[in-house]
Amino acid sequence: MSLPDFKLLRPRTIEEAVGYLDKHSGHIRVLAGGTDLIPSLRQKLFEPQYILDLGALGSLRGIHPQADGGVEIGALTSIRSIERSEFLRQHFPVLTEAAATVASPTLRNMGTIGGNICLDTRCLWYNQSLTWRKGCGFCIKKDGDLCHVAPGGTKCWAAFSGDTPPALLCLNAEIEIVSASRTRRIPLRDFYTGLGDNYRKLQANELVTRVFLPASTGGYRGVYRKLRVRGSIDYPLAGVAVAIKRTNAHIEDARIAITAVNPAPMLIPGASELLAGKMPDEALAEAAGDLAARISKPLTTSALTPEYRREMIRVFTKRAVLAATN
Ligand SMILES: Cc1cc2nc3c(=O)[nH]c(=O)nc-3n(C[C@H](O)[C@H](O)[C@H](O)COP(=O)(O)OP(=O)(O)OC[C@H]3O[C@@H](n4cnc5c(N)ncnc54)[C@H](O)[C@@H]3O)c2cc1C
Ligand code: SF4
Repeated sequence: MSLPDFKLLRPRTIEEAVGYLDKHSGHIRVLAGGTDLIPSLRQKLFEPQYILDLGALGSLRGIHPQADGGVEIGALTSIRSIERSEFLRQHFPVLTEAAATVASPTLRNMGTIGGNICLDTRCLWYNQSLTWRKGCGFCIKKDGDLCHVAPGGTKCWAAFSGDTPPALLCLNAEIEIVSASRTRRIPLRDFYTGLGDNYRKLQANELVTRVFLPASTGGYRGVYRKLRVRGSIDYPLAGVAVAIKRTNAHIEDARIAITAVNPAPMLIPGASELLAGKMPDEALAEAAGDLAARISKPLTTSALTPEYRREMIRVFTKRAVLAATN
């Protein structure tokens, strides 16, 4: 599976980068660590005329604690740096836990937080070679007009399968998005559409440049649990992030987010209302598990059955709540 032909662009500044995006809009793909994009290019999921290699944008690399207790993380910061950051481990542990489960050490060295946030959605019928997909008559997400997962429907259900976004959602993260004409900052929860094919609210001429974690979620206890086929190197097939603030014996605030079971990573509505003000125990953790399982809607986008993946959301949520309140 060879790479398609393309012209490689290597900007030295953010201005130059977004200038290229503007100029070649619709014919260009952004390359950060390349750990997801390169296999996708080989599978001919994308055949852009230009590839924009962000590698030289050093200003977008690094973890910068802020005076108010929050932190700014450059989009090109490697997953490995996040996993190993002592500051993040102390103040935002759910993020370091999630980062430590991404792929394998080699891929975490190359892969970036920006790439993890922008990760394409995945499906058994999509992440395949051109020959394989052609043999199946293609599908809505790429080159076709039917869905093999939900036949008769018009929607793509490919699953968002990144590990750090649920942790970032629990931490109330915001992201900075830059284009040639403007810079905007939005809550991460507003970034995803919930559609498997057009999964993120990012214009073709925009770049994700920074991630911000507020001081207000600093110090929350955090746990991340993940289901995958190969324990040493694999995308999640179900993932749960839990961040909990505890005062004495009571839970003061709680946030739960899930990944890999819907077309977007999702905060579980009502989690805080369910848990806040209560003493953590087995029954309460079980109720949180039931709540998370109700929100997860896995379909047959992977080799594991939807029933098993939904059940693991329930089990992991219960275990994660108990672990975070221990
Ligand atoms: C074998 C294998 C196992 C994997 N397992 C996991 C796993 O367990 N968990 C997991 O979360 N991921 C996994 N991945 C996917 C990948 O390694 C990570 O998600 C990684 O963080 C992606 O970052 P990257 O910098 O390599 O992204 P890239 O591959 O460079 O880019 C990914 C996508 O994001 C876009 N993009 C990247 N940066 C930006 C930006 N700053 N602004 C706008 N768009 C951008 C690209 O255009 C592309 O569409 C796995 C990959 C492989 C090959
Ligand atoms: S969910 Fe359906 S349309 Fe989407 S990638 Fe899978 S088969 Fe294709």
